[in-house]
Amino acid sequence: MVLWVGLGGCGVPPAPTPNAVQEIEPNDSFPGAQIVTIPSGQTLTINGFFVWGQDPDIYDLGTFEAGQTLSASLTGDSAVNPNNVQFGFFDQDQEVAILDDNAITAAEQQISLTIRKPGKYYLALSDPNQPPSSSYTYSVLITVGSAAIPTPPKQIVFLNYNGISTITIGGFTFNNVLPFSAIGSSLNPPLIASLTTSAIQADYTPYNIQILSSYDTLEPTVPHSTVYVSGGSGTQQFYGLASSVDWYNQDPTDNAIVFAGLLTNSGLSQTQFVTALANITAHEMGHLSGLAHTVDHTELMDQVTPLNSLDQPQTFHLAPLAEFPVGTENTPQLLQFALGLFQ
Ligand SMILES: [Zn+2]
Repeated sequence: MVLWVGLGGCGVPPAPTPNAVQEIEPNDSFPGAQIVTIPSGQTLTINGFFVWGQDPDIYDLGTFEAGQTLSASLTGDSAVNPNNVQFGFFDQDQEVAILDDNAITAAEQQISLTIRKPGKYYLALSDPNQPPSSSYTYSVLITVGSAAIPTPPKQIVFLNYNGISTITIGGFTFNNVLPFSAIGSSLNPPLIASLTTSAIQADYTPYNIQILSSYDTLEPTVPHSTVYVSGGSGTQQFYGLASSVDWYNQDPTDNAIVFAGLLTNSGLSQTQFVTALANITAHEMGHLSGLAHTVDHTELMDQVTPLNSLDQPQTFHLAPLAEFPVGTENTPQLLQFALGLFQ
């Protein structure tokens, strides 16, 4: 057999012909999404433009099977200043499958999804910080592939009520993190910690996750995430912080912190205190399991819940996305994909 390698003899196949489409406005809603076709085995470049603040650009990419992969990378951005472009893939129910809500650096301008739920998928982009009268162009490269659907990693979460001398989470370094007992002996810290741990376990009952308390056990020696539940108030005046939104729980060893001391002077009953602390802690664990913020004071991933709602029970349920102008987040379904169901 003779293999023809061409006169140059290098044998490198030619680069695939770039396929490109131009955005056509209006494509601001899922029903009005612009239909684009990704040629089989090839990539597609979409050249689009944002024409007003929060102008969502939505593209109907077609129908996909579980185990197919979709990736999108922002390859061009004509804005003068670094932009906070948000972009993600959404399924046929307009539910987010993955969202990058803060694509400022080059490394952040890439999302990759292994499809769990078959059906139609959309790519949606928006820039919430764009001045209303400005416009700029972008390019986004779409690639389709295939991969095994990852088995959810075994997730253990250790609720560390002991405090820690120093810890860095999400780019913030916290020193002298007080133990939970700093809420004061009149509030009975061991009892509140026990009730809080139980309430968090109830939030996560359907899922394959083991939640341990430092009041009951030593820190596990096997891989685990840690949530530091401090009785102090911190220095940043937020109730809690997680290292990242870890989509599909790719890192089962990430950490979060909660400052229960911010609740102590709020006149809450013991029951309200426990409910608020459990809501905050379950929320931060949600980020570590791959959940973004919602807008619904009864939903655990609500972005900014006022205290008079935070002391009421919240649950995981379908709710509008906070950090994107369209679409919803089906938090129970994402938790099922990220953690697996309890057997
Ligand atoms: Zn949050």
